[in-house]
Amino acid sequence: RVKERGRAHYQFYRSDMNSLFTNIVTLETHLRRAIDRGELTLYYQPQIDVRTGKAASFEALLRWKNTEFGWISPGVFIPIAEDTGLIVSIGNWVIENACKQIKSWNDKGIMGIRIAINISPKQFQQPNLVSFIQSMINKYSIQPTSLEIEITEGIMRDMKETIPLLRKLKDLGLLISVDDFGTEYSSLNYLKRFPLDCLKIDQSFIKEILDDDKDAAITSTIIHLGRSLGLEVIAEGVERKEQAEFLIQAGCHKIQGFYYSEPIPPALLEDRFLTF
Ligand code: C2E
Ligand code: MG
Ligand code: MG
Ligand code: MG
Repeated sequence: RVKERGRAHYQFYRSDMNSLFTNIVTLETHLRRAIDRGELTLYYQPQIDVRTGKAASFEALLRWKNTEFGWISPGVFIPIAEDTGLIVSIGNWVIENACKQIKSWNDKGIMGIRIAINISPKQFQQPNLVSFIQSMINKYSIQPTSLEIEITEGIMRDMKETIPLLRKLKDLGLLISVDDFGTEYSSLNYLKRFPLDCLKIDQSFIKEILDDDKDAAITSTIIHLGRSLGLEVIAEGVERKEQAEFLIQAGCHKIQGFYYSEPIPPALLEDRFLTF
């Protein structure tokens, strides 16, 4: 009897895995065509400067609407894009469209806007990443300082490769921030060695900041650490006024989260954040 049950469980597990696999393969097929079909868009989420209370920069977040599946979350398709290598062409699409967006704002007389772009470790393995970024900056005649690159701690592991690459991006004039700080490979050694501008405290610490003393302590310490190293510190995932107040009190420079705004399309962003 036990054996039978085990078997039933096993079969259930297997068919579940199969459908998961089928879904991933189907999604991959659709994702391959997503760029050409114009199914990708960028939404933007403001990062509020606590001194001015105004948006200082915007994070570009990829959105995918497929005709068959509807909206698919980046949490689902970015890992597929990374595993299949599709992230390189998708990532280049993101870079180009962010540059295009900056130019379109510049053309409307909106200057000094900065967009933060997420860059996957896989994109860093692509030898012409730096020259591609440079060519897009030239093509759209934008200031390199209007671009910020968000990297994750994963790429820090490979110091020999990463340091010169980041150095080149810095030399171009881009800003570099560490996304999801404190969750992956938090060797403090890299904070010393890498040419960084900003630390983004991961939202998992922010979530319980008001109720969990450990999260509060970790967050305050990251802010202190960042400030001592001359880095800008930003908190993400801020949903409540009290969380924002805690962070401002602790000396955080910038705040990003649903409390101020969800990621929104550029037209809405112009209405809400760029009209004076
Ligand atoms: P991330 O870079 O850490 O982005 C922050 C995520 O938190 C976004 O999810 C954003 O919508 C969400 N978020 C912002 N404020 C709040 C809040 O107050 N509460 C909660 N619960 N969530 C909040 P999203 O857009 O689903 O993106 C998920 C992840 O997908 C991103 O995490 C990033 O790692 C990746 N991703 C998104 N766009 C791109 C892209 O263009 N390129 C690459 N390589 N990765 C991307
Ligand atoms: Mg990010
Ligand atoms: Mg993050
Ligand atoms: Mg993330």
